[in-house]
Amino acid sequence: MSSSLPSLLLYPQDPDYRPADTGTLIASLQDAGLIGESVDDLPGQRYAAGPSFLQHISFLGCSPAVEFEPEVPGSEQFCHAGILYSGHLQFRGGPQQVQVHCRQCRHRETDWAALIDAWRADPQNHRYICPECGAESHATDLNWRKTGAFAHLFIELYNIYPHEAVPTDGILKRLREATGVDWKYIYVR
Ligand SMILES: [Zn+2]
Repeated sequence: MSSSLPSLLLYPQDPDYRPADTGTLIASLQDAGLIGESVDDLPGQRYAAGPSFLQHISFLGCSPAVEFEPEVPGSEQFCHAGILYSGHLQFRGGPQQVQVHCRQCRHRETDWAALIDAWRADPQNHRYICPECGAESHATDLNWRKTGAFAHLFIELYNIYPHEAVPTDGILKRLREATGVDWKYIYVR
């Protein structure tokens, strides 16, 4: 499920990674205090921010005003988390601010939406051919900077604007320990 809220998304660097079950990861995130109780009046697997959220997610402003409670029940306009798991590889990015570059020559592909449409139509066989240097790439191998990513599993932290906050090394390490793979992050809005 995609959302129009600005988000910070954590994801495993290996696009082929799939968890044996998401329950173990969720328990680990709750144990770390990144996430708290499930939020039942929102669709999907949503969780309140946990008691140690601000220790794991570092806001860059001097005194950020982070809302951890919705003004009205059912509103999505507060800082909370979602666990998004799919058996099929997913792309997350955009709709604004997507930057994708060829890794050979750094050519920027401006029509990223068409590229993603073509990839979705045939993920196995799709190749991007760089109009500048001719290099052939899987969509997953292009440089999406911190604006797009492919994964089966995302941890979405809602209502965080691009570069407003970063995950600490500590929580990325904890995710690696919980899953056995390295984690990275992007911003979507
Ligand atoms: Zn190129």
